[in-house]
Amino acid sequence: MVLEGKIALVTGGARGIGRAISLELAKAGADVAFTYKSSSHLAESLVSEVAALGRKAVGIEADAVSMASSAEVIDRVVREFKRLDILVNNAGITRDNLLLRMQEEEWDAVIQTNLKSVFNYTKAAARTMMGQRYGRIINLSSVVGLKGNAGQSNYAASKAGIIGFTKSIAKELASRNILVNAVAPGYIETDMTAALTEEQRKAVTDAIPLKRVAKPQEVARVILFLASPDADYITGQVIAVDGGMSV
Ligand code: NAP
Repeated sequence: MVLEGKIALVTGGARGIGRAISLELAKAGADVAFTYKSSSHLAESLVSEVAALGRKAVGIEADAVSMASSAEVIDRVVREFKRLDILVNNAGITRDNLLLRMQEEEWDAVIQTNLKSVFNYTKAAARTMMGQRYGRIINLSSVVGLKGNAGQSNYAASKAGIIGFTKSIAKELASRNILVNAVAPGYIETDMTAALTEEQRKAVTDAIPLKRVAKPQEVARVILFLASPDADYITGQVIAVDGGMSV
């Protein structure tokens, strides 16, 4: 129970990697608030699952693109739980296309959802965490942000942007004992990667040194480590959880 008494907020927590993170943090003793945009049924079932673990969970409907709603979410969490110790910026989307076919809306949607949301929530959470002299912020980047990927220039730019943001804010907030790190997953089995054909999936798996894709829990456990006291001397880092893909 390394997170006993801690309060966490996970954006996009109802499904995929975000759900695994919410559950892993709750299993470690944290109470968990999470946001969702469209997955209201999954949000309800997550609240029940966390309650069955003996922890409190609150699901809040909020579009991570909106700065005003992000500030409202943080205010609500602090009102209900009296503090905020851990923020996981997980919400993300893909809108893949080759550059010459990419529409302005596809570029804007990915940059706003993946990158601006991280600014929104980090800024809104920073004041509370500064007052507490304690905070752990963990951002979801991607192997694509480290290496680039044809057909994903918008996604790669958003995920590389998260790395620059993480390192900068780690320097800004270190004196207040707020640690800011990123995790860069490789290929994780969620709805986001479910659209690949068998052929594409085989090509991806062949390119992974460990020759397999990963489960969401394998990312969630690294996030739990970064949120735990074992990571008290780690800030500004990017940890790849990618079976060696980025090597
Ligand atoms: P996913 O299964 O597609 O789930 C995406 C999550 O983001 C959902 O919970 C969704 O909420 C939420 N979301 C999307 N747009 C949102 C918005 N505007 N406001 C609030 N929430 C929003 O994706 P995933 O695979 O779990 O990915 C989670 C994170 O890991 C993303 O940042 C992704 O880029 C990153 N990542 C994933 C992989 C992978 O292989 N899967 C690899 C590297 C990095 P609703 O369902 O409520 O709409």
